[in-house]
Amino acid sequence: PLSCGIVGLPNVGKSTLFNAITQAGAESANYPFCTIDPNVGVVEVPDERLQKLADIVTPNRIVPTAFEFVDIAGLVKGASRGEGLGNKFLANIREVDAIVHVVRCFVDENITHVSGKIDPINDIEVINLELILADIDSVEKRMDRSRKNMKGGDKKYAQELEVLERIHAALTAEKPARSVELSDEEKLIVRDLHLLTIKPVLYAANVHESEAANADANEYVERVRRFAAAEGSEVVPISAKVESEIAELEGEDKAMFLEELGLQESGLDRLIRAAYKLLGLYTYFTAGVQEVRAWTIRKGTKAPQAAAVIHTDFERGFIRAEVVSYDDLVAAGSMAAARDKGQLRLEGKEYVVADGDVMHFRFNV
Ligand code: GDP
Repeated sequence: PLSCGIVGLPNVGKSTLFNAITQAGAESANYPFCTIDPNVGVVEVPDERLQKLADIVTPNRIVPTAFEFVDIAGLVKGASRGEGLGNKFLANIREVDAIVHVVRCFVDENITHVSGKIDPINDIEVINLELILADIDSVEKRMDRSRKNMKGGDKKYAQELEVLERIHAALTAEKPARSVELSDEEKLIVRDLHLLTIKPVLYAANVHESEAANADANEYVERVRRFAAAEGSEVVPISAKVESEIAELEGEDKAMFLEELGLQESGLDRLIRAAYKLLGLYTYFTAGVQEVRAWTIRKGTKAPQAAAVIHTDFERGFIRAEVVSYDDLVAAGSMAAARDKGQLRLEGKEYVVADGDVMHFRFNV
């Protein structure tokens, strides 16, 4: 499954946020393919389309799609030189698909800050620098190899070297690899380097519990927003402490507590949706009487591979898929009505699944 790593300096609220994530925890029986590990929290992706579909087909249950948050502790200044949990920390980041960077925007005199004062931009830069230094190391090693290989006169390595040089120039200017524009072909060239700073990032601005409903009034959040806008990243203001309290509640109690706080929804739900978007994912649905369920695919996935997310047998024996778009189905009001309108399509192996497609797979066993 896809995953998001939670990073940040010590004492910014990572563990508090991660605890809220595991508390809110998904029903693990629904997600047997997810990792069981104390550092991994499985979250369900809130999606209001599920309820609309359930209103149409009245299933026994609704199952949202899920992804994983990984708690990546142990970053300190000097990690790229192996300090703290240095190398282990970097290896853990290599494995995730996107990064949620928690920054401290709450003032609390009882809780020390590693660098002595609240300065979220400086915090971000400390971490980014460690990631950049680690990437410079990977890129330089590969450049050496490309140079050696190029002596054989192979054009492929000249192209590789050119891409590496562009990334190297950005990194040495303290810019992340994701700031370098790469074609799909060039992305493929650097993919197996698993660069840390090429991964998409969003900033979770952790504010004081008294500011949960009005986080944008916090001047630190404003600074993080400006910083993030300049690099094209998102910011989700959140109060980790409040989230850990919300996560202990359910149903009515949760709704009442949110209302008291003046919140429409929990910060965690906002964070989950932002992270899902950051991962560049699409959702398709299956809608039967047993269950209405959301499934996650990457953009560009074709029908047989989308079917494999449910079961590998579905891909192996794939014949075709019956597809209706979510909007058409909801407008029609029922499967039968959508069929009558000619909106239920039969699609083959080359069909690229769209976000919101409601799919029924036909396959041989
Ligand atoms: P980590 O080192 O980044 O994992 O940080 P922790 O989650 O352990 O938090 C460090 C300290 O800050 C703990 O004492 C938390 O209770 C406190 N803390 C975290 N978030 C908040 C918050 O939103 N408000 C306040 N007042 N304290 C917080």
